[in-house]
Amino acid sequence: MKNKHIQAVLKSTKKQAFDLSSIKINKTPFLIISAIAALSLLYAFATPSADTIQKHRKMQLEIPSSPLLNFTAQTPENEIEWQEIVIKKGQTLSSIFGDLNLSQTLLYNIVHINKDAKLLTRIFPGAILSFVLNDDGSFSQLKYNISESQELFIKQIENTLSSEIVIHQTETQVQTANGTITGSLFNAGKKAGLTDAMVMKLASIFAWDVDFVLDIRQGDNFSLIYEKIYQDGDFIRDGRIIAASFTNQGDTYKAISFDDGNGWSYYNPEGRNMKKAFLRAPLNFSYISSNFNPKRFHPVQKRIKAHRGIDYAAPRGTPVFAAGDGVVTRASYGKYNGNHVFIKHPSGIVTKYLHFSKRKVKKGQRVKQGQTIGTVGSTGMVTGAHLHYEFVLNGVHRNPRTVKLPKASPLAKSKIKTYLSYATPLLSQLDSINVNKVAIQKPKTDKTES
Ligand SMILES: [Zn+2]
Repeated sequence: MKNKHIQAVLKSTKKQAFDLSSIKINKTPFLIISAIAALSLLYAFATPSADTIQKHRKMQLEIPSSPLLNFTAQTPENEIEWQEIVIKKGQTLSSIFGDLNLSQTLLYNIVHINKDAKLLTRIFPGAILSFVLNDDGSFSQLKYNISESQELFIKQIENTLSSEIVIHQTETQVQTANGTITGSLFNAGKKAGLTDAMVMKLASIFAWDVDFVLDIRQGDNFSLIYEKIYQDGDFIRDGRIIAASFTNQGDTYKAISFDDGNGWSYYNPEGRNMKKAFLRAPLNFSYISSNFNPKRFHPVQKRIKAHRGIDYAAPRGTPVFAAGDGVVTRASYGKYNGNHVFIKHPSGIVTKYLHFSKRKVKKGQRVKQGQTIGTVGSTGMVTGAHLHYEFVLNGVHRNPRTVKLPKASPLAKSKIKTYLSYATPLLSQLDSINVNKVAIQKPKTDKTES
C-alpha cells in the first residue's frame, strides 16, 4: 500500500517537475470521465475471447521495481517540492491553510476561482492535498487528488490564481494466474503474483463451498483470470476477478463473473449463483490461515462427533459472521458457553456460536449472512481462544462442513443462453491455465519450498 502510494506521488511530482505546460488542461472533465465510464462499461460487457486474453497474458508488463531510484536518476535540477497533507478527521481547509501560515483571504480567493476549484470544499478524511510554497512562505501551487483519475491543480503566478484539472488515463489489463498450495493460501497467492487483497477476493468467491479455515490442504490449487488497473502505465490496483477455479481436496469449483441485469455476481458453469444459504466457515479466515498448519487441525476433526460442533482455533478478536440470514434467538452469557449467540434460519436450521470475547448482536435482531455477530474469545469453560460452531437441522446436529444444502436457483431461462456463450471461452481459458501448470510440474525436478 505504502509503496503504491509513494509511486503515485512520485509520478505526479515527476510530471510537474518536467514540464508544467505539457499538462493536459480540460475544461469539461466530466464529459471525458463519462466517456471513460461508458468505454469501461462497454469493455465490461464485451465477451473477452480466449484469444484476447491469451495476448494479454503474454504481454510483459514492466513495473519498475524501484521507482525511487529511477526517479532520483531522472530528477531535473529545479525539482518542485510538494508538501503532502493527508486530510485527518476534523481537519478543514481553513485549518490547513492556518497551519501553513496561508491567509483565509487566499483560501477564499482560491475556492472562488471557478467551479473546479470549488471541488476543494468537498475534501474528506484520507484525501491528499499537496502544496508548493515559495521561499518566503507564500503560496505557489496546490494539488488535490479529486479521484483516482483526476487531479486539480491551483497555481498562483504573480497575483493571478488559476486552476486546471489533469485527467489520468486508466487502463485495464487482463491477467491470468495459478498456484498450488504448499503452505498457506496467502503464500501460494504471493508466488502466483497476487496481492493479499486478491487472495481474499478469490476466497470470498468460494466461501460457500470451501471452508478456508479448516479444509485447505497441501496440493489444493487455483486458477484465475483477473483485471489489473494501470494509470499512465503504473499499476495502481487490482480489478475484478473475471473467472476463477479452486480445487479443494480433489473437488474443483469454478466461477464466472456475470451481470444478469441486476448487478455482477459469480455463477458456476451451469449458471447457478455461487452464493448459497450458508457460508462454510463462519469466520474471517484471513486472521487464521496465514499460520496454516494442517496437522494442527486433525485432532479437531476427530472430536467433531464427540461434542457436536466444530472448533475453530483463532486469535482472540477474529470477527465471526452469521453463516446465513436469520434472527438472533439468543445472545447471552453462560458459565459453560461463555458469550454465545444462537441464530434461527429458514427451513428449520439453527446455528450456534460459543465463547465470544464480545457479542455484537442482540436477541430478536435480524442478521444478514456475513454480518459480524461477535468476536472469537475464550469465555466459558474453555482452555484457549476458539469459536465453537454448531449447525442444527430440525433439532439434529449436523456437520456444517459436509451437510448438503439446497443449491442456489439457476439464472433465468432468458439469461442462461447469453451466460453460457459468455462463460464457455472463459472456462476453457481457465482449463488451459491448469494444463500449463501441470505441464510445467511434470518433469520431476521438484523443488519443495519451506
Ligand atoms: Zn467446541
